[in-house]
Amino acid sequence: MKVIDHINAAKETLFSFEILPPLKGKSIQSIYNGIDPLMEFKPKFINVTYHREEYVYKKRNQGLLEKVVIRKRPGTVGICAAIMHKYHVDAVPHLICGGFSKEDTENALIDLQFLGIDNVLALRGDPIKTEATFNPTENGHRYASELIEQIKNMNCGNYIDEVKLEPTNFCIGAAGYPEKHFEAMNMETDLKYLKQKVETGADYIVTQLFYDNNKYFDFVAKCRTAGINVPIIPGLKPITNLRHISFLPQFFHIDLPQELSLELLKCKSDDDVRNVGIEWGIHQSKELKKSGVPCIHYYTMSNSSEVKEIASELF
Ligand SMILES: Cc1cc2nc3c(=O)[nH]c(=O)nc-3n(C[C@H](O)[C@H](O)[C@H](O)COP(=O)(O)OP(=O)(O)OC[C@H]3O[C@@H](n4cnc5c(N)ncnc54)[C@H](O)[C@@H]3O)c2cc1C
Repeated sequence: MKVIDHINAAKETLFSFEILPPLKGKSIQSIYNGIDPLMEFKPKFINVTYHREEYVYKKRNQGLLEKVVIRKRPGTVGICAAIMHKYHVDAVPHLICGGFSKEDTENALIDLQFLGIDNVLALRGDPIKTEATFNPTENGHRYASELIEQIKNMNCGNYIDEVKLEPTNFCIGAAGYPEKHFEAMNMETDLKYLKQKVETGADYIVTQLFYDNNKYFDFVAKCRTAGINVPIIPGLKPITNLRHISFLPQFFHIDLPQELSLELLKCKSDDDVRNVGIEWGIHQSKELKKSGVPCIHYYTMSNSSEVKEIASELF
């Protein structure tokens, strides 16, 4: 079933979450161990991230370094199929522009369709670690809106090279940034491109994580004023350790609100941070749910224990 149909059919706020494929070589059991504790909250869909290749330098003889391409977390499509088979819950694979030509994208979508997967979250992807800016793959897409256009075209039976074939039927999600995408010149231009993604075919938006609900409420208000009228699903991630305090703002380009930062400054251990993070997650979730958001989407980073504690207060 499509995410948008779940949202339209819902009478109250839905629960969903995102997982990461395990590191290469780990079994799928590690994925099930993360999903099992959250099944009691009846997720309507589970997102699985996509991780493109990385370059690493391996030491060879006589001190030489060899540049090697590796995929640390392969398996997104296989995990989605396994989730649908084992839990009978809709899986939402993330599909990115980086590393994909248009033909690769078309083939990936055909695989998803054969597997009975109706949903994709269409993203550009971040620049790879060894590149300062995002570089599209040859004959690939530069922006998520172009990827969305390709999927929408396939939904109309228009494949690449103007070939007319059987239409696909994907529900398309897109990313939104309550605190602005880090490359955007300002919020207004970011919203202009977000609107383009929706006009091209995105059925709903999932937000980047945030810790200040007012940022989300402002973002939704600005989207509505700009004429973006699709559901906007808030994304939340509990803070769980001391490292997160500097890592999350640095990596995701977000602020921690003053009230939360004052509590975090008192923490001496990971356990202290975890307790504050769970309390904050409960507080955020309750306020969002009360405001009538369509769904709350939790970023588990494949560690479900904190999300379980939060969800047990709400769902
Ligand atoms: C919910 C969510 C899930 C994610 N999952 C993954 C994942 O699984 N794997 C992964 O690699 N990354 C993931 N990301 C990270 C995401 O790929 C990065 O944030 C990336 O830098 C931007 O992706 P986007 O789809 O928002 O890009 P776009 O919508 O293409 O936007 C990228 C930038 O370009 C600008 N822009 C857009 N269109 C145009 C245009 N036509 N002309 C000029 N400028 C334009 C935008 O304002 C923005 O600054 C996720 C992010 C979110 C919020």
